[in-house]
Amino acid sequence: MKSIAILGSTGSIGCSTLDVIARHPDRFRPALLTARRDDATLLEQVQRFTPPFVAMVDVAAAARIRPQLPPGTTLFVGEEGLIAAVEACGAQMMVAAIVGGAGLRPTLKGVECGMDIALANKECLVMAGPVFMNAVRQAGVRLLPVDSEHSAIFQCLAGQPREAVASVMLTASGGPFRHTPKQALADITPEQAVRHPNWSMGRKISVDSATLINKGLEVIEARWLFDLNPDQIEVTIHPSSVVHSFVKFVDGSVMAQIGHPDMRAPIALALAWPQRIASGVAPLDPSGSEPWVFEAPDVERFPGLQLCFDALRGPASATTVLNAANEVAVEAFLERQIPFTAIAAVVGETLSRFAHHERLESLEEVLAVDAQARRLATECLADHPLPVAAPPASI
Ligand code: NAD
Ligand code: MG
Repeated sequence: MKSIAILGSTGSIGCSTLDVIARHPDRFRPALLTARRDDATLLEQVQRFTPPFVAMVDVAAAARIRPQLPPGTTLFVGEEGLIAAVEACGAQMMVAAIVGGAGLRPTLKGVECGMDIALANKECLVMAGPVFMNAVRQAGVRLLPVDSEHSAIFQCLAGQPREAVASVMLTASGGPFRHTPKQALADITPEQAVRHPNWSMGRKISVDSATLINKGLEVIEARWLFDLNPDQIEVTIHPSSVVHSFVKFVDGSVMAQIGHPDMRAPIALALAWPQRIASGVAPLDPSGSEPWVFEAPDVERFPGLQLCFDALRGPASATTVLNAANEVAVEAFLERQIPFTAIAAVVGETLSRFAHHERLESLEEVLAVDAQARRLATECLADHPLPVAAPPASI
């Protein structure tokens, strides 16, 4: 029986993880469930899975669930409480499914405590690639990708030495605005941006998919997970999202992993690796699927993708700054403060105005750069106000 800490259990990945776990009650036991402030979902999960530990970041939401918890469940509160809960729960594995930089410290705590990490929270690697990978190496834990593209690469690489790999090609759906003309991108609303054609996901990653910055974050994630250099990572737009990525080998062979776009498959693989277990996803029948199309990404309409490649080739602090600025800009877009097209503009401006560091060797340094970049990005927002909509013409 493997005990699992699920960080961000109320989110899209968290709920899919519990769906897989519920199919295997003899294999997995949730040791810790956590949320930021969604008390209704967390309470439902606690009643169903009776974990010994729960954590809620928001103090008011924690006060709401406290009286309703079963007697055997210990509640931790606040950001520090979340980290203490990770330490207390003693799980064997963590599913890191918090969104954004907020997940870095609790995930690193799991590493330090010797937990194998099933990583969905890609921002950890974008913010702190070298620090995170060092911590993983030192603790001797396993790092298993949950992101579908990286799970695909991981599966294609199984048993292959690093020298056998020529390059990897990440597939991207292209998002909901693949065909939207450049001049119409500025008018995209948050409601349109969070409606993804193939995947059902949290709000931030949905916006990241729409800007293609999600794919850029995944390029950076792949660099660290698989020890690749930026020139070995390509991106192709594949609208039906059934080929989850390719690995090209030095002998001319290319391997791909194929399946329905449903995160339960890569989650089940990460939970049970090296075994395979039922995930609730049926194998895809290629003969019944729509044509598989692959095309080059349009970095002119979606400049965020290029910013990610450039940051990866830049100074050590660049991807930390990129991640912070993107989080600030996406939040501002969702709050209707800036237009859709300003997201990449704010990221680009923050990157070029930042006084970069050539090395980032500790968590403290990473967090300091992150905080400074968030302040600078917040200043940049002011240069991109959302135009006030014209009043309706009077009749
Ligand atoms: P989501 O918004 O649906 O859920 C986020 C979870 O994190 C929630 O449980 C929320 O309570 C918690 N959370 C949010 N802010 C927090 C904070 N400040 N402190 C503590 N907890 C906080 O997001 P999601 O779509 O499940 O994505 C989670 C992560 O997985 C992201 O990094 C995303 O990029 C990655 N990912 C998601 C998908 C997907 O299909 N949804 C696919 C690949 C990778
Ligand atoms: Mg992905």
